[in-house]
Amino acid sequence: MAKSQSVRVAASRVLLKLWRSIAFSIRLLWNLILALATEERCRLCTRYIDILGWLNEVTAADTVSPAYLEHLNATSAAICHTCWHSLLLNKPIVSRYSVDDTKQLHVYSGIGYTESMKTLVRRFKYDKDLLLTKPFCSLLLREGTNIERADNLILVPVPLHWRRKHERGYNQSALVATAIGKQKQIPVVEKALSRRKMTEPQNKLTKEARQDNLTNAFRGNEKLLRNKNVVLIDDVCTSGATLLECTREIYRCGASSVLGLTVARAVLIHQEVENAEPIDR
Ligand SMILES: [Zn+2]
Repeated sequence: MAKSQSVRVAASRVLLKLWRSIAFSIRLLWNLILALATEERCRLCTRYIDILGWLNEVTAADTVSPAYLEHLNATSAAICHTCWHSLLLNKPIVSRYSVDDTKQLHVYSGIGYTESMKTLVRRFKYDKDLLLTKPFCSLLLREGTNIERADNLILVPVPLHWRRKHERGYNQSALVATAIGKQKQIPVVEKALSRRKMTEPQNKLTKEARQDNLTNAFRGNEKLLRNKNVVLIDDVCTSGATLLECTREIYRCGASSVLGLTVARAVLIHQEVENAEPIDR
């Protein structure tokens, strides 16, 4: 009796192992087909993502690690395993700006604006590479960029002027905000803030021109902003001037609090930034 039971246990173990290896082979084959069919390559090193990623894992262990599956989920196969991990070596950054005498704006950025990030942001903004939405969302929500649960919490993307949005076809910050809203179950209120002026890129202007460029550039919707705790979302924070101007308008419309979240933060060395004191962490 005991003998037949142990035979059954051994047989079921063998079957389980067999099933696991069959399932693994099917997934490997599926990824191979997928990679060849879509020709999806890493946006940074241009190697095929799935083939290399999966084969690397096969050599590392005989089962696919949960960490790798998580990685696939986070990047949706736009960035390979190796490049993703080297990106993550850059730590999140927190910056503080004075809104007025009593209020400060804290901006949490997932990563520094490195050369790799410049490449990715360029593809995201100008080449319609929307598969990067997921990895950008993951970078933005890294350790240190947690959004606190609060009543009346809303996500507001930094708006584009309607003409620029029409040219590009989308607002990149709104895409990231939507992905975060979905993940964290927080409403995204794109109409809470609009851009009235077609502003020039801030980095091409002098200090005076920069302030002039942004003055009255944004218009908030009081009905949508009153008593709200606002998380302002942008792709890259350069001098912080755009986020500050948006924050002032959001407070003018009666919001309770504002917090900034950006995917990347350009740490400027020679540029004067008024009222800004970036802190690395
Ligand atoms: Zn790569």
